Amino acid sequence: MPVKQTYQQLIDQNIRNDAVLQSIGDGLIVIVDVDRGGKIAYVNKVFEEMTGWKLKEVLNKSIVKIVPRQDKNGKTISFSDRIITKVLAGEKVTTDLASPFYYIRKDKSSFPVASVITPIILKGKIVGAVETFRDISKESESDKAKTEFASLVSHQLRTPFATINWYVELLLAKDIGPLNQKQEDYLREVYKASKRMVALVNVLLSVSRIEMGTLDIDKKMIDITCLAETIIDEEKLSIKEKSLKISKRIAKNIPKILADPKQLTIVFQNLLSNAIKYSPKRGKISLKIEHEDKNIKITVTDSGIGIPKADRPKIFDRFFRADNAKEIEPDGVGLGLYISKAVIEMMGGKIWFKSQVKKGTVFYITIPVNQKLKITKKKPDETKK
Ligand code: ADP
Repeated sequence: MPVKQTYQQLIDQNIRNDAVLQSIGDGLIVIVDVDRGGKIAYVNKVFEEMTGWKLKEVLNKSIVKIVPRQDKNGKTISFSDRIITKVLAGEKVTTDLASPFYYIRKDKSSFPVASVITPIILKGKIVGAVETFRDISKESESDKAKTEFASLVSHQLRTPFATINWYVELLLAKDIGPLNQKQEDYLREVYKASKRMVALVNVLLSVSRIEMGTLDIDKKMIDITCLAETIIDEEKLSIKEKSLKISKRIAKNIPKILADPKQLTIVFQNLLSNAIKYSPKRGKISLKIEHEDKNIKITVTDSGIGIPKADRPKIFDRFFRADNAKEIEPDGVGLGLYISKAVIEMMGGKIWFKSQVKKGTVFYITIPVNQKLKITKKKPDETKK
């Protein structure tokens, strides 16, 4: 075949490929050099429209510099934490409305994004990644409206439940008059159910406050050891019911820290009740509190069902529950860890875990000793152009 003809065929093929890529309805970025900071090798028209950058302006530029990525609290996500680096492990990574992030346009405005990032594998080696993303401003808006509705409903439910609890407590105290055994048993059931509802309403209220950026952190100097002991005490009955063995290792030099006792109690309760819930009978649970560098480190270990590998990236997402957890405990709502992560991060701390299926799970929390408490607010108008 004449050289000229082959060359023309190559050009035609290129034009066709380009037309295909340009017609993709989502924003598209091809990234190379992913192991060295990530450079942009190609973007399509939708990318240009959504970000305000032109292809020729961004070619060979660093992806982090051109399109910085922020989390919902407006914090810039570093390259090492960007999903793209996780793609280096060869996996496809998806983000959606449950865990969106924000891209910053050329004019510095931002928009929420759902994306899919897939590695480009050539001869068994990862040579780059392709990201397709779409603007989810509309979905975010309707999600916001739902959050506000949930907040309103939860708030309105608190008062009638407080009234129910108050009167049931009065009746159970037998101040009004004696109760026969049946009446007392039934009332105790009403009381338990009503308490469960209050707990659920409080969880929903916390979630909507986190979503709206209005969750208050009320800082006080607190003794974390004392707080942990109280929570273990509260869980004594469920620990006994399952014949679990609980061990504590609390270092002597734990200083008081500036934190919100109410929120921290919720976090401890979540981790401990999960360790109990997801452990078999006669399992082992341990709690360790230590002072490490500038942090207090809390470790909650259990010998329970573990978290399957595929579910691990979603464990802190709203409403997420792994199938193995649903099997043994149909009643959970999947909000405890979501709230815990938000609260710990608001206190400048970190939460993470290690797990082995059918062997157990370890949750870790660190909280800085000399922290500045920051109340992270959601961006005032993340969809503003
Ligand atoms: P819930 O316990 O109500 O389902 P959480 O937000 O506390 O909600 O936890 C989310 C999910 O994380 C659980 O449904 C379960 O799949 C998993 N999980 C959390 N803690 C543990 C644990 N200690 N062992 C095994 N799985 C856990």
